[in-house]
Amino acid sequence: MVNNGKSNVGIKLNKNRLNDGNNRRKISVKIRGLFYVFGVILIILLAFVVYSKATSKFRYDKFDDVVEINYGDKYSLKAPIVCYGSRISCGEVKATIKGKVDTRVIGEKTIEFIYKYKKKRLILKQKIIVKDLEAPKIVLNDEKIKVCPNGKVLKLDISVNDNLDGDITGKSKASLQGKELIVEVQDGSGNKSSKRFVVEPNDDEKPVVTINGKKEMSIVKGLDYVDQGANVKDNCDDQITIEKIGEVDVNTVGAYKVTYSATDSSGNSSSVERIINVKEREDGDKVVYLTFDDGPGASTQALLDVLDKYNVKATFFVTNQFPNYQHLIGEEAKRGHAIAVHSLTHKWNIYDSVDAYMSDFNAMNDIIEQQTGKRTKLFRFPGGSSNTIYCGHNKTAVQDIISAMNESGNVYFDWNLDSKDAGGAKNTAQVVKNVTSNMRNNSVVLQHDIKKFSVEAVEEIIKYGLNNGFTFKALDESSPAPHHGIHVCK
Ligand SMILES: [Zn+2]
Repeated sequence: MVNNGKSNVGIKLNKNRLNDGNNRRKISVKIRGLFYVFGVILIILLAFVVYSKATSKFRYDKFDDVVEINYGDKYSLKAPIVCYGSRISCGEVKATIKGKVDTRVIGEKTIEFIYKYKKKRLILKQKIIVKDLEAPKIVLNDEKIKVCPNGKVLKLDISVNDNLDGDITGKSKASLQGKELIVEVQDGSGNKSSKRFVVEPNDDEKPVVTINGKKEMSIVKGLDYVDQGANVKDNCDDQITIEKIGEVDVNTVGAYKVTYSATDSSGNSSSVERIINVKEREDGDKVVYLTFDDGPGASTQALLDVLDKYNVKATFFVTNQFPNYQHLIGEEAKRGHAIAVHSLTHKWNIYDSVDAYMSDFNAMNDIIEQQTGKRTKLFRFPGGSSNTIYCGHNKTAVQDIISAMNESGNVYFDWNLDSKDAGGAKNTAQVVKNVTSNMRNNSVVLQHDIKKFSVEAVEEIIKYGLNNGFTFKALDESSPAPHHGIHVCK
């Protein structure tokens, strides 16, 4: 235990020396640490600078490269926001705009946004499409709307205006759905508009029935009654059937009533009446003479039957052009028709001289006498008394023939109503029209019984005449004779 103190001092000294060394070492560690930190920071900064340099570029968000603009709208171009730099630091770059937009011009235009940073350039393109995106506007001008139960619009006062097309009221379509009238319209660019109006569909208007032909008419007993019917018009319904009530007994004299009635789909109905008087035939003042030239021929028999059907008497100016039908001359006379000479040959050389004409006339009259038992004093010139052909044969022929014929008591007939069946009229309907539209008292009608289509017109002509108070008679020597006047040859 003696060495205890000494040994304690020695330990103390050693301890102090030890502490000094430790402190010095601690300081140098701190400095070294700081160097490290600075170094790292410097490296990081350097890395940043290098990184920034390496990744610098124009940067921008996604933008619409196609923009649609409504026609006429105000629009100013907006350049996409662009910066130049890295993710960390990026400076905004202003754009210069190349191109212009006029929203009053429909179509496409490409705008360029040009960005410059130092020597770097960026061009962004945007397609601007100006089109009509605006729907037309429907305006109701009058609150009163009238609609039929079937949807037909009777009154709808609207205006439809479109930014581009203007007034397109006429393009609107209305349809009824229950108690709503839906008006739809589409402009030329395909923009649609619709409007709904609450309506009360109804129809209290009667259909209008109008009679075809006369409201009161007369027909001769025994003739056919041809009903001309009636027409109907309705405010709502396009198709309405007419019911015809009443019959006409054409074989019994009397007044008959025919009623035409029509009812629309809402039950409104109306009717009109026609009175048909079936009368006995009366011999009035109005007389028509049907005359037929150039036969008999293939159609003559049918003609005789039609004339018989209506008990009508006519006059035949006969020829011998078709000898096989010669016997029909006798038949014509037997049935009460008048027979007259037209010509044996119907050749123009009959106008060579009075003798030539007389010889032809007499030869024909011989045949007539054979067929009927008597000669005739009635005749008609081939071509009519006003023909010009005779001038090429004998310049005074017609005048001379008339003088000679007058002396022997023969009478000639021209005509004052040409059916035009020898030229002009090409079918039955035209013959009917030509004759019926010109029928007057004392009409002497010219037809040819060798023309089938003309013969087929006779029944209608007779019906018309009988229903309009005419009586058909055959010509005789005292009948009024139309004369055309003689053509004077040069
Ligand atoms: Zn003739």
